[in-house]
Amino acid sequence: MKLRESLADLKPYIAGKLKEGAIKLASNENVLGPSPKAMAAVRNFISEMYLYPDSNCEKIKEKIASKWNVAPDNIIMGNGSDEILLFIAGAYMEKGRNAVTSEATFSEYTFAVKLFNGAVKYAPMKDCRFQLDKIGELVDQNTHIVFLCNPNNPTGTYFTGTELEAFLKKIPDDVLVVLDEAYCEYVTARDFPESLKLLKDHKNLMVLKTFSKMYGLAGLRVGYGIADAGIINDLMKTKEPFNVNAVAQVAAAAAIEDEDFVQKTREMNEKGKAYLYEQFTGMNLPFWKTESNFIFLRTGVECMKAFQKLMDTGVTIRPMKLLGFEDAIRVTIGTQEDNELFIRLLKKLLGK
Ligand SMILES: *Cc1c(COP(=O)(O)O)cnc(C)c1O
Repeated sequence: MKLRESLADLKPYIAGKLKEGAIKLASNENVLGPSPKAMAAVRNFISEMYLYPDSNCEKIKEKIASKWNVAPDNIIMGNGSDEILLFIAGAYMEKGRNAVTSEATFSEYTFAVKLFNGAVKYAPMKDCRFQLDKIGELVDQNTHIVFLCNPNNPTGTYFTGTELEAFLKKIPDDVLVVLDEAYCEYVTARDFPESLKLLKDHKNLMVLKTFSKMYGLAGLRVGYGIADAGIINDLMKTKEPFNVNAVAQVAAAAAIEDEDFVQKTREMNEKGKAYLYEQFTGMNLPFWKTESNFIFLRTGVECMKAFQKLMDTGVTIRPMKLLGFEDAIRVTIGTQEDNELFIRLLKKLLGK
């Protein structure tokens, strides 16, 4: 068999390794579990799962539309926002075209672009932050997409509304700017962009959100994109009819109304963040302030070794060999109990 040329340098995705019994702080899921409202809705729905799902996801689109004050035809639903990245690349990438993003960001942007024969250009970061001006400088005649992740996975850092607006002004109208806000529900910074308000003036902007993180539905796979109806129409051409399963649609429609759960999760995350900052500071470990539910830090131990030792003793985290750091890891902020265990094991690893 002769593989397509553009797939030659792609490798199958390797999921974070897990160990039975170990606490999972590796993938930024909600450590409180799924939204209780979503669980109840799914239980009630089971007898209906012999029916094909709604291919247009109307119920959930209506709820998203009213939550964000947009129209249903500004929304596309995906089997996770990962799938929306594929729609985007499928609609706008081909051989000879390129996409621009930053180094040290979500790997699925590169995957999607390469799958559809495009090339990717990476701007450097500065102190683990996106440099939007450097990203803008890489945009050329063949650039069709820019991918921004805010707050960024894996560094947890963010750019402000002012920075984003200045950036958008400089980007040509025919370049799609994809703003991935998978962790937006965790943000507390006052100057974080109100991105949906920018859609009116910037028809080339698309905002991605997901039910996988805050709402605790990662296993069901539901995410969505919001953009100008013309872009949504382009993307719909690449979507297979029943991409979001019926159980996921029911769960997401219930979860989006579960304000109590969101509130509880936010409070836990803020407490956990403060505790971990204090501990890392006490141990003299460099870390970056986060606007999400994970923290990027350097332990001083080679990251694969740290990963293995922490897993063997009871916690899985993500080793992060990037940005020239050999010793960086990303850890999900857990419950107070999870965080205390993590700190105990980290101290043991470091001989403290
Ligand atoms: C987790 C995550 C997603 C969401 O993925 P889903 O496919 O919706 O589960 C998207 N972008 C980033 C940066 C993420 O970390």
